Parts: sequence; C-alpha cells; structure tokens
Amino acid sequence: MSRRDELLARARATKGFMPEDEGLALSAHAERLGAARPGGTWLEVGAWCGKSALYLGLAAEATGSLLYSLDHHRGSEETQPGWEHFDPDLLDERDGRLNTLPHWQRTIADAGLEASVVGIVGESTLVARHFAQPLDLLFIDGGHGAAVAWADHRAWTPKVVPGGLLVIHDVFPDPADGGRPPYEIYLDALGAGHREVAAVGSLRVLRAPG
Ligand code: MG
Repeated sequence: MSRRDELLARARATKGFMPEDEGLALSAHAERLGAARPGGTWLEVGAWCGKSALYLGLAAEATGSLLYSLDHHRGSEETQPGWEHFDPDLLDERDGRLNTLPHWQRTIADAGLEASVVGIVGESTLVARHFAQPLDLLFIDGGHGAAVAWADHRAWTPKVVPGGLLVIHDVFPDPADGGRPPYEIYLDALGAGHREVAAVGSLRVLRAPG
C-alpha cells in the first residue's frame, strides 16, 4: 500500500465530520499549493480527532510543508452532551468535559505524521494574537456559532499571504442544510477579493487576493 493510500485509509477510519470527497479535495488543493510553494506554513482551526489533519498532513508531508492543527479540544457548542453531534467516547472521565486531544494525538502519532503536523492546544483568538507567521494555507473548520466563526475568520484570515489558500468548511448556501456563520464568512472573504477556486460539498477553496 502506498503512503498516500495508507493515510487516506486512516483518514476514512478516523472520527470526524468530513465526507471523503471533501477530504480528497482538501488534500488535492493543499498538495497543489504545496508543490507551488514548498516548505510553507499551514494552519487549521478546529482539529477534533485529526481527520482533516490527515488529509492536510499527507499533502504537507509530500511537499515539505508544516501544518499547525489548532483546537482547545473541548468541543464546540454542537458537540456538547445533549447536542446533535455529542459522542460519549470523547468525554474525559476526570472532569466530565469533552477532550478530543488524546484522540487527535493518537491519530497523528499512529499515522507517523509528527514531522508534518504540529498540534496547538488553546483558544483560537488567543493563539492568533501571538502568532506572527504568515500562512500559505488556512483551513477554517472550528465552531459554527456566529461569534466563534467570525472570531476565527477575523483573527486568522488576515494572516494568509497573497495568493495563498483560504479553505472554509461547512458552507451551506441553503439554510435548510446547515448553520449560516461559515457561509457568511465565506461571503465576506469573497467580498474582500478572495477568488473561489473550488466548491466540493460544503468545502470552499478560495485564493487570497494579491
Ligand atoms: Mg467541519
């Protein structure tokens, strides 16, 4: 089995909310960017158990890029007990809170991706205030609430270099399909001059202006 096939099989088997066609598109666009700009710095907001970090990580590994995978690992509003996407396997018995960090860490270690994917544990906006490195690729896939989604967008999107990629997940133009905030930040990015490169399912790949 090739390295690519191995990592794709691992991605399929990892808990998460990314359909395979979207994961493959994410990986392919990241790899194309990495081929054009080898050794780049990438960051995803919202890591969960590492599924998208595998799709991005295989592209990072292939192109000598580095992916920062950022999450506070306490879940978002919609994954808490009583909510639609709650998963009791992710509860920390010590404090009864969600904790996806051990799952994320196992995913990356088992895949042998620790040289290409580095975890950051903390609040997105707090980390962003102290993060000066420009980003060749940004993937926004954090909480879907308006305050959280807009905060992620405002904190991180300005760090994308001209010609870099901004990728947004869970963009639903029809409100019947899902919440509005990711769609609203997508519209905001288009309004600011980002150009749409691809749309696969709820994934939108945008090229930063400049
Ligand atoms: Mg998502």
